Amino acid sequence: MKNIKYFGMGVFLLALAIFTSLAFVGNFELTERGMRAQLNEQELTNLEKPLMEEMVGKPYRTSFTFSRDFIAVFNRINEDLKAKEEWDKVMWSPVSGIALKLAQSSANGIVASHKMLFFLLTFGLGILGSLIYIISDLKIKGPPGIKNDGIYHDSATNRGWIGILTAVWLISFYVILYFHPYIIANLISITDPIKGLFIEGEKASKWFLYGLLYTTSMTVMGARMIIKYRHNRYQIVRTITVVLFQIIFAFLLVEILPMFGLPGKDLKSAWPLDYYFLFDWNVQDLMSSGNFGKFVFVWGIVLSIIIVPTMVYFYGKRWYCSWVCGCGGLAETLGDPYRQLSNKKMWTWKLERWMIHAVLVFAVIMTVFTGYHTYNVFVHPEMDSKEILFGISAFDIRSWYGFLIGSIFAGVIGTGFYPILGSRSWCRFGCPLAAYMGIVQRFKSRFRITTNGGQCISCGNCSTYCEQGIDVRAYAQKGQNIVRSSCVGCGVCSAVCPRGVLKLENGPEANRFGNEGPIVLGNNGFELND
Ligand code: SF4
Ligand code: SF4
Repeated sequence: MKNIKYFGMGVFLLALAIFTSLAFVGNFELTERGMRAQLNEQELTNLEKPLMEEMVGKPYRTSFTFSRDFIAVFNRINEDLKAKEEWDKVMWSPVSGIALKLAQSSANGIVASHKMLFFLLTFGLGILGSLIYIISDLKIKGPPGIKNDGIYHDSATNRGWIGILTAVWLISFYVILYFHPYIIANLISITDPIKGLFIEGEKASKWFLYGLLYTTSMTVMGARMIIKYRHNRYQIVRTITVVLFQIIFAFLLVEILPMFGLPGKDLKSAWPLDYYFLFDWNVQDLMSSGNFGKFVFVWGIVLSIIIVPTMVYFYGKRWYCSWVCGCGGLAETLGDPYRQLSNKKMWTWKLERWMIHAVLVFAVIMTVFTGYHTYNVFVHPEMDSKEILFGISAFDIRSWYGFLIGSIFAGVIGTGFYPILGSRSWCRFGCPLAAYMGIVQRFKSRFRITTNGGQCISCGNCSTYCEQGIDVRAYAQKGQNIVRSSCVGCGVCSAVCPRGVLKLENGPEANRFGNEGPIVLGNNGFELND
């Protein structure tokens, strides 16, 4: 059976190698027709002549070299226009997006002509290999029950060389996806046949590739989660639920709604995680989409202001973080092998509180500025400088927020660093929605984890596998209830406890802290009870 498991790993690694190598193969040649089809009028006016002279008809071996030349031409022309102060001719669209469009339409090599084949060789083989690897554990690891043996002796899960290589791959992928997507033009185009199932002839975007990869990873690793925690009903139901929310709301509906001319929105995404909710283009998009668009706008407000805090009051933030959210879902499935890497030290608890609440404040300020701009767009369209408030541009704030929080923190650090920092560094240190719900959970909620301290044998499993870095054992040893703003209610501490000490409960608010003992764990360490 072990050989079958290794075979599965081999198949997965082969698929990963093919997927990665697609960035380095192909044939790209810009044609006059392709150039005219992809560039808008202003870009064509500026770029037609230099592109005809320098790029049209010239073959390139990779999308990187193709895009490098295009970006050089684009930047040179733009710099000239800026030097001459011809601001109305300057091209403001991000050059990386234009380079990607051109690279995709200029591809004519083996990948471009066999997209479905390469989709099967990457996604298909990857899924097959992973499932063989995962399912063989049913036999190898024996009867149901937690099997984390050797987790600190495996270089994949103890920050060893495999973990570091995995992190390097993930971080590189995120950096390329966000900032240099033209490098993976081939990888994006192999998902064209799947995109075509939704809208015939439509080309996949980088977000389609990302959504498909994200949903596939969550589903496959969700199967692993269910097999691993099959002794625990909470984990089985929770995993199925969060994966279904991802498949239906974050992927399928986002693709299906545009088929009916409706905006493809993730209806479960709440502000401030959905930080562009009040951006002018988002509101305009919704307002111009008929009654459904208006419903989505109102739903977004009701979800964020009424449903989120009400549900946190009744069930704790677990209802969202561990049952609904895509970020949490990926952390609970793809990130599960790394949950023990979260730092449990007191200084990280302090850092976590400063960082996550600072991001929440940043999100609120950014939303006030963008909301002011959007209000002016609708109510005072005649106004000059609609985006300026207190002398600061809403565009500057929102682009800094998008870069620092939306891309670097949530993507590159949040997921790329799974094998180094553990699976929930975004949820723990950066997610403004988690901060918002955490405040409600800490001060006004019926949720708590109760501890039957007399049964605790201090094995430390609960603290080890708490992805939020909570020292659960310290509470259990004292028989104190756990009421922490950061607890996402994943329930894994309870699932790995050999003595049934921990129970996730919703109950009356009275005495939810259960602080009867002389010493309690407070916000700054141990405190004496009054
Ligand atoms: S305390 Fe338990 S339920 Fe809460 S985040 Fe940690 S492991 Fe999950
Ligand atoms: S896993 Fe259970 S027995 Fe072990 S330290 Fe935690 S509460 Fe105690």
